[in-house]
Amino acid sequence: MPTRKMKVRKRIALVAHDHKKTDLIDWAYFNRTALAKHELFATGTTGKLLEDKLDRPVNKFLSGPLGGDQQIGALIAEGKIDILIFFWDPMEAQPHDPDVKALLRLAVTWNIPTACDRATADFIFTSPLILDDYTVQLEDYSQYLKRKIK
Ligand code: PGA
Repeated sequence: MPTRKMKVRKRIALVAHDHKKTDLIDWAYFNRTALAKHELFATGTTGKLLEDKLDRPVNKFLSGPLGGDQQIGALIAEGKIDILIFFWDPMEAQPHDPDVKALLRLAVTWNIPTACDRATADFIFTSPLILDDYTVQLEDYSQYLKRKIK
């Protein structure tokens, strides 16, 4: 079975829709000591808010609706993101709903621990695995890649 290694210092992507940004920033501030041990990535606006609140650098991409979700998805596909914290808004359709779905799909495709709410984020960050090496078991997509196209 193919695997991917996570190191102690995790590469964490954070994304929050507008009505969820306060929630994510509050959570991140409360957990700033835990987050300090890891590398942070974020969509543009979320990343700027995180930098201001946490007073630390965040690798920022484009704003989500302008392609930021897809940039994070691409990094997931390349094995360059370990954990996704994605507070999406269940009460409001987004202009980039297809990108939201695509990001969540890639997170499952590549077995990325994903928190879409504070409770799940708390459980991930209180797991002993957050400060340990971890081997992610991946689906074996080799048969899919070898499939015959008629
Ligand atoms: P934003 O994007 O952080 O640039 O607002 C978040 C999103 O994907 O909606």
